[in-house]
Amino acid sequence: MKLPIYLDNHATTQVDPRVVEAMLPYFSEKFGNAASRQHKFGWVAEEGVETARSFVAKFLNAEPNEIIFTSGATESNNLAVKGVAESYKQKGNHIISCVTEHHSVLDVCKSLEKSGCEVSYLRVDKYGRINLEELANAIRQNTILVSIMFANNEIGTLQPIEEIGKLCVEHGIVFHTDATQAIGKIPIDVLKMDIHLLSLSAHKIYGPKGIGVLYVRKKNPRVSISPILHGGGQEKNLRSGTLNVPSIVGLGKAIDICANEIKIETERISFLRNLLQRKIFETIPNVWLNGESENRIPNNLNIGFDGVDAEALMMGLKEIAVSSGSACSTSQAMPSHVLKAIGLSSDEAHSCIRFGVGRFNTEEEIEYVAKRVGVVVEQLRSISPKYKVRKQKEELVSI
Ligand code: PMP
Repeated sequence: MKLPIYLDNHATTQVDPRVVEAMLPYFSEKFGNAASRQHKFGWVAEEGVETARSFVAKFLNAEPNEIIFTSGATESNNLAVKGVAESYKQKGNHIISCVTEHHSVLDVCKSLEKSGCEVSYLRVDKYGRINLEELANAIRQNTILVSIMFANNEIGTLQPIEEIGKLCVEHGIVFHTDATQAIGKIPIDVLKMDIHLLSLSAHKIYGPKGIGVLYVRKKNPRVSISPILHGGGQEKNLRSGTLNVPSIVGLGKAIDICANEIKIETERISFLRNLLQRKIFETIPNVWLNGESENRIPNNLNIGFDGVDAEALMMGLKEIAVSSGSACSTSQAMPSHVLKAIGLSSDEAHSCIRFGVGRFNTEEEIEYVAKRVGVVVEQLRSISPKYKVRKQKEELVSI
């Protein structure tokens, strides 16, 4: 077994060697601009892009012309939310989102509020799920968009996507979902789930960084969004800029691998995740699970360690890459907005670690991690005056 061990697969993933192999020719002999219609270099590049587009479309049960390549989920989320706000402004200016969304949705909503939009942020229960009744009650005459993530990046909780989609259809509202953490782990069918806009990113599914997709529904209903980048008119005028052909090919390959392996991979990864959870709960007292045990993505394990500072725990686990908070944002000092939203105090939120199991983890690594976490937690608790006082108090109460 090699150290360090990577267990931070929500932050990003190692590029699959099969993806690297598929990309390589597009840096060298197939280097053309996919928009060069006049010669073979362009046609070859275009063919690579269109093959990738078909892979993505097939995986989502969409049409190839509904797939727009972007620089990643941050851009896709910006394009979806800003694009609807601008394009539907004659119809209304009200958006519904949720307090546990990724900042690439929340901060867009905040900026739109400054320019005249109204945003309702749904709360979540202690597992991180929205309440459908609350969503229904939040819908107004002027609601133009509901943006609710598929799976949360910190606690893995799945939202009731199909039910949200149904409600949006009933009210004639566009439904966007940020599926960045769900893609490749949960089967997604945009038609069956009534999803109108969907964001995803390649680097969470063993593809390259800096490439993503926005799915934009073309019929039943036709969703129209305004671009945020203007220029050469690529991607049906929705995302100008020369296409990043090698990365698009890599994204396509990464999706194709997911399509072929999702079932077996989900089983393997959830087995490893469950093993880690069981070992930690069996060997370490006073720990709790954040999120829901059933209704979550298979690779997520977010655990609170009573009386332990997560940063100190990570320092003690230098040979294991895990994360406290979301790790997708740069400001780690603030307690996570997701953990606060499910009811944790700041102190509790600072005691939580997110483990993200991935394609390249082994059972041996999981066994090692469980043991090391136990050792370091015990060490930290033995020198934590707060933990000791609390334990003594608890013991006195139980006598
Ligand atoms: N949404 C979610 C749920 C995410 O986890 C992330 C990545 N941390 C993003 C959006 C942003 O993705 P990208 O890094 O591709 O911009």
